[in-house]
Amino acid sequence: QKTACIIGGGIAGIATAIRLACKGYAVEVFEANDYLGGKLSEIRLGAYRFDAGPSLFTMPHFVEELFQVAKKDIRQYFSYQKLEVVCKYFYEDGTTIEAFAERKRFAQEVEMKTGEKAEKILQYLQKSAKKYEITANLFLKRSLHKINTWLCADAFKGYKNLHKLEIFKTMHQANSQFFRDERLVQLFNRFATYNGSNPYETPATLTIIPHLEHNIGAFIPKGGMYAITQSLANLAKDLGVKFHLQSKVERIWLENQKAVGIVVKGEKRNFDVVVSNMDIVATYKYLLPDVPAPTKILEQPKSSSALIFYWGVKKVFPELRLHNIFFSKNYQAEFEHIFQKKTIYHDPTIYVNIGSKYEPSDAPAGAETWFVMINTPNNTGQDWDKLISETRKNVLVKLSRLLKTEMEPLIEVEGVLEPRSIEAKTFSTQGALYGNSSNNRYAAFLRHANFSRKIKNLYFVGGSVHPGGGIPLCLSSAKITADLID
Ligand code: FAD
Repeated sequence: QKTACIIGGGIAGIATAIRLACKGYAVEVFEANDYLGGKLSEIRLGAYRFDAGPSLFTMPHFVEELFQVAKKDIRQYFSYQKLEVVCKYFYEDGTTIEAFAERKRFAQEVEMKTGEKAEKILQYLQKSAKKYEITANLFLKRSLHKINTWLCADAFKGYKNLHKLEIFKTMHQANSQFFRDERLVQLFNRFATYNGSNPYETPATLTIIPHLEHNIGAFIPKGGMYAITQSLANLAKDLGVKFHLQSKVERIWLENQKAVGIVVKGEKRNFDVVVSNMDIVATYKYLLPDVPAPTKILEQPKSSSALIFYWGVKKVFPELRLHNIFFSKNYQAEFEHIFQKKTIYHDPTIYVNIGSKYEPSDAPAGAETWFVMINTPNNTGQDWDKLISETRKNVLVKLSRLLKTEMEPLIEVEGVLEPRSIEAKTFSTQGALYGNSSNNRYAAFLRHANFSRKIKNLYFVGGSVHPGGGIPLCLSSAKITADLID
């Protein structure tokens, strides 16, 4: 039997382990932390349980596919439901918009609140679906680094429709040309943050992202987001995958330009195939110090990072949903602060995710779990302690004002995650949430391939390589990588 090792038990590492086990490999996963999931993990504070990282679940079919490949009944492991309200938006001028999953209802709500015609919204979402159709098969399902990808039928369809992708406009230009109402432009500009990018720089091609949330849907797993990690780890174990926790891999062992194993806890272990789910920059730096690194690829600007306050809040807010956004007044200034000035704007957009709306047992009776997130620059040595304490004050003032409730006295327990700790917990370069940013039109081509051109039997998977970050793309990268190992 052939053997494979996976360095890192993040979601992409676990998914790759499942796929390789299904191909008949004996698979072992080595994870540095004492828990699995990497960014997709959980934390407990007193009587409260929080999902630590991702909070939005889109494209559940990528998870389902893993159970199909393994020929297991998903219902034994995992279930989820579709949200009726995808997100609730709050603006400084007092407007609130509920983004209903039902497209017509959402479009009517927007017309009522902003005067922008409902048909216009539906047209926009249709356009977004069209762009997705043109790009998905090419960019999300195959390696971009193999010649046959560029000669397949999907590629030719892509070439024919290239003009529809609006690669020469920014997302903001496209949105502000399409909509008259600034609140709506801001709402659709926000989708750039789904992969840690800047709507004023990222190409309009990324207006495909609303398609995922508004046409396909937003979902919530039973048990919270961490259930994705747990159920996939359980599936992997049932397929015979061996997990080693607290097992930080120190080196990838090479012989004659071929990966032949790893060094872990000072011991050499042989494997036929080595897959790194560790951040790609860190993989070259720590595990492959003698291999010339592809510096142009590794030095691409990284995505934004985040500051998260986990608050156990002693009050229930019926006016809030699972996902809530409290927009900044000046979005452009906010992004200039994140990407150019590399600091946090004094009036940041605040995302409040309340997991206990769907998992009441995550909080005591009469209380809620608040995951309060601000987009921040990635870590380039800022004075984070100062920025965090200033931002905490600004966030409390803004939320108290918009919710007409003094927030600070309601906070029963508090935890903080920030760029430095994201980097320390997962080796993610500069604490970036999504690997490279997509702030230029060539970004898709400047992510590292899922394999090494120089070293045989060495593969890469996860948010820092092709096709990029976020749970769906990480699961997609696991499929691309496992297919290449074929
Ligand atoms: P990681 O989760 O980073 O896992 C890598 C693993 O490798 C880690 O467990 C690490 O400990 C381990 N490792 C590293 N080096 C070694 C070594 N030498 N030896 C052994 N193990 C090692 N995505 C969404 O889809 N929706 C969201 O709403 C969303 N929100 C997010 C919010 C936050 C705060 C964060 C942090 C991320 C968010 N994301 C979201 C992004 C998403 O979490 C990531 O893209 C995805 O989880 C990355 O998975 P991964 O497997 O590539 O890497």
